[in-house]
Amino acid sequence: MIDELRARARVLGEEHAGAFEGLDEEAAARQALAFLASAGLTAWAVPARHGGSSTGSLSSDDVVSVRALCCLRDELAYHHGMLDLMLVMQGLGSCAVTLGGSPELCADVLPGVACGEDIAALALTEPEAGSSLGDVATRAERTDSGWVLNGKKTLITNCGLARFYTVLARTAGKVGDTKGLSMFFVPADAWGVDVARFEVLSPHPIGDVIFKDCKIPGSFLLGAEGEGLDLALGTLSRFRTSVAAAANGFARRALDESRRHLSARRQFGKPLASNQALRFDLAEMDTRLRAAQLLVDEAATAVDAGETATAEVARAKLFATESAGWICDRAVQHFGGLGVKRGVVVERLYRDVRALRIYEGTSEIQKLILAREILG
Ligand SMILES: Cc1cc2nc3c(=O)[nH]c(=O)nc-3n(C[C@H](O)[C@H](O)[C@H](O)COP(=O)(O)OP(=O)(O)OC[C@H]3O[C@@H](n4cnc5c(N)ncnc54)[C@H](O)[C@@H]3O)c2cc1C
Repeated sequence: MIDELRARARVLGEEHAGAFEGLDEEAAARQALAFLASAGLTAWAVPARHGGSSTGSLSSDDVVSVRALCCLRDELAYHHGMLDLMLVMQGLGSCAVTLGGSPELCADVLPGVACGEDIAALALTEPEAGSSLGDVATRAERTDSGWVLNGKKTLITNCGLARFYTVLARTAGKVGDTKGLSMFFVPADAWGVDVARFEVLSPHPIGDVIFKDCKIPGSFLLGAEGEGLDLALGTLSRFRTSVAAAANGFARRALDESRRHLSARRQFGKPLASNQALRFDLAEMDTRLRAAQLLVDEAATAVDAGETATAEVARAKLFATESAGWICDRAVQHFGGLGVKRGVVVERLYRDVRALRIYEGTSEIQKLILAREILG
């Protein structure tokens, strides 16, 4: 099953990786989603119970299979970061609905996400609340007819493209409290939702989402009031391993590019690959990548088996994303000046891989999690 899925992602990547050339980030994102949807791959971002796909005996129909997601992300990232991003955001953005939405909301929202018709987004981060979600200041006040949201989210992927945002907001307590946070489903076309896009290092539809007296019905509260942080962390724990898998995809591509280039390029009358220093590089790139792949397998298998796997997930995310950064950097070095030329694959990989050490918990946060597990 997993091998067949990987093969489908490979075919898609080989056919379409070149299609994003010259497109702006919004057009590229929409195009990537259309490719993924027509190949039936968006369905893997939503549990089978809600119109998504199932690995059968490998994982429960109530949750997304992390192994399936990891194999898809690894293969898609190998071919193009935009394919990887648009796949995972369908799951990341809709997971809180899966975990806490009413049956009616799930039935209304999730099939559209699974088939790629509707774009999902997750809105946790704020200008003053990144690693520390207890600092979330966006407020949701209860009214007779539902809730009113006020506040600002930033660095929100799919900002301006999404049909809805799953939003972490404060319903009680003061800024700094980890209690008193709740999660909401907010349609992008709700009155009082505004967006402001900005650019980041590599093409990525991202920006601020602002809520100004944004009114939503009571049924758009996800889970119970005060359960928002649990839903946010539940989402991240399910999807974090797949960030490591995407990093492995970028790193695997960088290694392939280096291997080809070092064999073909001649300087001083011989192939670059005949220099021991560069051969050592390849050996180390290969070893780090393999170790990262094994950590991802371990974490994904544990999560699919229903284990919390806190240490396994943190280890995989930390090691794979840091290793991929190093591997892509070595690949740029192997290409010399060509390595920084726009349009050369390793230049794109170098930019694409950077954010993975930051989002869904920075490397430092993964170290804090691991240290807590080690120290008890
Ligand atoms: C491309 C991209 C896409 C993103 N998409 C989304 C999205 O869709 N939805 C969303 O909600 N957010 C998104 N984010 C935001 C992302 O989750 C945050 O950037 C991340 O959680 C870090 O928060 P911050 O940027 O506020 O950094 P900060 O929390 O301010 O951290 C700054 C630095 O300090 C370090 N640091 C912080 N606390 C500690 C500590 N206690 N000990 C040691 N070091 C520490 C961090 O590791 C980091 O290196 C995205 C970010 C990027 C770059």
